[in-house]
Amino acid sequence: MKKITIAIDGFSSCGKSTMAKDLAREVGYIYIDSGAMYRAVTLYSIENGIFDGDVIDTEKLKKAIKDIQISFRPNPETGRPDTYLNGVNVENKIRTMGVSSKVSPISALDFVREAMVAQQQAMGKEKGIVMDGRDIGTTVFPDAELKIFVTATPEIRAQRRFDELKAKGQEGSFEEILENVKQRDYIDQHREVSPLRKADDALLLDNSNLSIEQQKEWLSEQFGKIVNK
Ligand code: C5P
Repeated sequence: MKKITIAIDGFSSCGKSTMAKDLAREVGYIYIDSGAMYRAVTLYSIENGIFDGDVIDTEKLKKAIKDIQISFRPNPETGRPDTYLNGVNVENKIRTMGVSSKVSPISALDFVREAMVAQQQAMGKEKGIVMDGRDIGTTVFPDAELKIFVTATPEIRAQRRFDELKAKGQEGSFEEILENVKQRDYIDQHREVSPLRKADDALLLDNSNLSIEQQKEWLSEQFGKIVNK
């Protein structure tokens, strides 16, 4: 069966990664969470005094970016890949509100995007990959055979993030999460470099009223239509 590239883009917390991971597992493809890479750069910036309060020391980050190595390794317990920053597992640390509230300004920096896009394109060289993010179908893999753009209402997305954090025993009020979701949507859509937008040839999926099982079925169907063509 021919191997293809699958790009799943959309707004924050709309279940992109759940559907991407499930499809990757089902069809034996590599799954890459590109948001985790921007989150790891943000964590590095916080931990190394580069992002202090509201100020980013861009010169320092520019120098450091080549030393920021991000990789993914399977976690046998969850059956999903964990994110590693310079060899250290940071999967839980990058999902906190502290990182969520600072990731959009970091990912709006052109040199950060350049470095991450280069790594993402290298990961997808052989195809057989499902990558989710904001600019995968527009910038990273403009020639992807299957492109999906996912959306859902901000309230539903905030509720999903709230449930996810709660399940992990992490802090965050619903109002704070909703505000963060809206703020990130705004910054992601209005930044100069690779703003979040639907690629012209992407299929639109509003999953506000779909269960995980239903969206999984829909995605498998779209995948089948392309590989069995
Ligand atoms: O997907 P997730 O919500 O974890 O992504 C975190 C943030 O990383 C997004 O809000 C966005 O600012 C940034 N991002 C990006 N481009 C991507 C993936 C994520 O700018 N391809």
